[in-house]
Amino acid sequence: MTIPVTCPHCGRGLQLPEELTGKQVSCPCGKAFSVSADDSLMSLLQDELDVNLDPLACASPAEWAKATGAPPEVTARIEEKLRPKPTSNANFMMGVAGAIVAVMLVIGLVVYLIFNMIIANR
Ligand SMILES: [Zn+2]
Repeated sequence: MTIPVTCPHCGRGLQLPEELTGKQVSCPCGKAFSVSADDSLMSLLQDELDVNLDPLACASPAEWAKATGAPPEVTARIEEKLRPKPTSNANFMMGVAGAIVAVMLVIGLVVYLIFNMIIANR
């Protein structure tokens, strides 16, 4: 499978094998650049905005938006794309923690009841 990538130096659109993602490639223009899976989106946005500033090179999407004057909806799209998905992980961990607590409570209740029965039978 190939991914569409735009050379940041000459703007040429290239179709590159997916496995080159994260690697340095040489463009026919002679310059090298690293392939990012998000390049297609980034180049699309950069085309839209007519800017050459890489959002990945900025500290945050907000900073990138400030530097380029990107409209809020574009910034939101970039933020969504760049976010390393900590929220879903956090939600998942919360769910696991909740399940563990619930199981512990049930076990504690069962142990409590068994102890009560043992004490009552004496
Ligand atoms: Zn090039």
